[in-house]
Amino acid sequence: MSDSRNWFDLMPEDRKRRFPGSLRSSNARIEIEGKTLINFASNDYLGLATHAGVKCAAADMIKRQGFGSGASRFISGDAPELYKLEAELAAWKGYEAALVVGSGYLANVGLLDALNDRHGTMFCDRLNHASLVDGSRLSRARVYRYAHRDVEQLSQMMQGSGNGRNMIITDGVFSMDGDCAPVRDLLDLAVKHDGLLLVDDAHGTGVLGSEGRGLLAEEGISGHQRVIEVGTLGKALGSYGAFILGSSEIIEGLKQRLRSLIYSTALPPCAAAAAIVAIRLCRSSDLLQRLSSNMKYFLHAAESRGITLMPSRTAIQPMILGENKTAMRAASSLREAGFFVPAIRPPTVPEGTSRLRITLSAMHKERHIDALLKALKSVI
Ligand SMILES: *Cc1c(COP(=O)(O)O)cnc(C)c1O
Repeated sequence: MSDSRNWFDLMPEDRKRRFPGSLRSSNARIEIEGKTLINFASNDYLGLATHAGVKCAAADMIKRQGFGSGASRFISGDAPELYKLEAELAAWKGYEAALVVGSGYLANVGLLDALNDRHGTMFCDRLNHASLVDGSRLSRARVYRYAHRDVEQLSQMMQGSGNGRNMIITDGVFSMDGDCAPVRDLLDLAVKHDGLLLVDDAHGTGVLGSEGRGLLAEEGISGHQRVIEVGTLGKALGSYGAFILGSSEIIEGLKQRLRSLIYSTALPPCAAAAAIVAIRLCRSSDLLQRLSSNMKYFLHAAESRGITLMPSRTAIQPMILGENKTAMRAASSLREAGFFVPAIRPPTVPEGTSRLRITLSAMHKERHIDALLKALKSVI
């Protein structure tokens, strides 16, 4: 017997993930392996991660309360800053109550487990984020997956499913596609089948809707008694951590049952302080306006250059190239031309749909966008 076991079947070369060390700066630039590039690969859509006000709020809180929270919220980590953040989130997004948790991944995994058991039934969009997929597995509920955004198919699936605990689960803005879930139709189905609608709007928060409230507010269904919304503080809000929004009853229930909250160290108070300032900036500064004019400018400029993108009105603007190697080669040529745009490959996206994933931010200048599209045109 040999001692050296092979614990991993390593990915073939065209699928291998790389973790490029990177150093960000505040003006849409990123330094990777010694080279400075224009960054089209960040979820920091408003540039809040490096905003002076956000940095100051975090630094002040560290001076007052130190860095780590020292315990689970349930034991002694429940800093007042977390309550303040929850009140701020609930008021901004229009829900009765909010619960701050460690990360979006932890929120989803914990939430699906807490709300379901083997008697529950989940209906999941086929392109849902990995954390929702993992949560549905952990819960041991029955899981059905419907074709991407296919309300018709979902409706037929639900017809046959009886009146157990039914939950419809979807990304709001889809993370690798940039398109939006048909949330109003999904809510109608949830109501009809006496169930709940869970929407993870990690990429809609701070991007869509008035004051950046997100997809559900834009569609007029935030705060509905049968809606649970999840979001992260780590994307447009430029901090770290996540939140769950819903009725007081649901949020109170989750406090009792959410294992990823109860058995995990609380968010550092400085991350909450940073997020509070970030929400205020999102609501009242011109950053959101700058992001949406960049999105418009990008779409218009791409169209006039004859560049075909996936249909998206969000900050995520992917371009399908098909083969892994084609996507990898395009990403590497763009990098040589001075732009950081990642290639996304299976298993993150379905076979044959490898793509470039361009993300826009309020920090980009129109000349950055022009230069990217010019390089893109010559690469493809
Ligand atoms: C990024 C993301 C998450 C994970 O959030 P973190 O706070 O980064 O753990 C969950 N869901 C979706 C749709 C995401 O895009």
